[in-house]
Amino acid sequence: MPARCLDGNAIAAEIRAEVARDAASLLDNGCPVKLAAVLVGSDEASRLYAESQRKLCGSVGFAYELVELPADVSQDDLHATIDRLNADASITGIILQLPLPAPLDTALAQWRIDPYKDVEGVNPANIGLLFYGEPLIQPCTALAVLEMVRRSGAVLRGARAVVVGQSTIVGRPVTMALLARMATVTGCHIATRDLAEHTRQAEILVVAVGKPRLVGAELVRPGAVVIDVGINRVVQRDAGGREVKRTVGDVDFDSVSAVAGTITPVPGGVGPVTVAMLLRNTIEAARKQRQRR
Ligand code: NAP
Repeated sequence: MPARCLDGNAIAAEIRAEVARDAASLLDNGCPVKLAAVLVGSDEASRLYAESQRKLCGSVGFAYELVELPADVSQDDLHATIDRLNADASITGIILQLPLPAPLDTALAQWRIDPYKDVEGVNPANIGLLFYGEPLIQPCTALAVLEMVRRSGAVLRGARAVVVGQSTIVGRPVTMALLARMATVTGCHIATRDLAEHTRQAEILVVAVGKPRLVGAELVRPGAVVIDVGINRVVQRDAGGREVKRTVGDVDFDSVSAVAGTITPVPGGVGPVTVAMLLRNTIEAARKQRQRR
């Protein structure tokens, strides 16, 4: 039987509807939600992205401010901008658009964001709190993975989970979050010997690497929940032999669907849920700032 495919677009739409209700209720209680995005050295693509962010925020009732800085801004001036947004009580969430142009230091700038306004969960203080099991705000992609696992119906307590890819912003936070929910977690990475030996044990398999079709059916335990985080642009030939660009994940969807119990597609899986989690984090941040006052 083919795997059940989780529809990320439908899940994201449900979350956006919840977020819109929460934003309206916060507004009624005198706490409007406002997201500020800092964009350094904006090109056309970044501006388009910011425009779609503005529309998305508007659709759930958030105010939005784009703060643009020149590509040659100094690290000190970037920090001064973040400090200003931290101090502005009308701003309840801050996003730093990446990548920053060289030689700006991304980690230093992320450190600067008030952990209560860090809606992407990228400040090392927020990532560190995951280790104590009491996160303030978690990275959006890790939250999206957890949401997908929850929707699969899998019981995490005692389950064997394998996370392939151990980046600080995706793989490791997912590993920590699954551990905190009492799964038995194996973290695989570039130095892992015999990846298949580990992945074939996994009742829950999360792949966050950035290599197209790294995981085929032979790496998957029958009935497993397979969450594909990867986003890769590849060139393929269509039926007429023409080259076309397509977005694929790290999992070979067609072959793995025949083996897994539940699977997430790319596109239309973790990606849209990650964006929805950014909105949910923005609500969480606004609520926590209110409690802090
Ligand atoms: P990253 O920083 O490049 O990390 C990739 C990780 O995979 C690193 O730990 C790397 O190890 C490891 N790795 C590389 N080759 C491997 C292999 N053959 N076997 C096992 N591990 C291997 O990337 P990222 O930011 O975590 O993102 C991963 C993927 O998720 C990318 O495709 C990205 O576009 C996508 N992504 C999607 C979303 C979403 O919303 N859906 C959000 C964020 C990222 P080394 O560093 O030691 O080489």
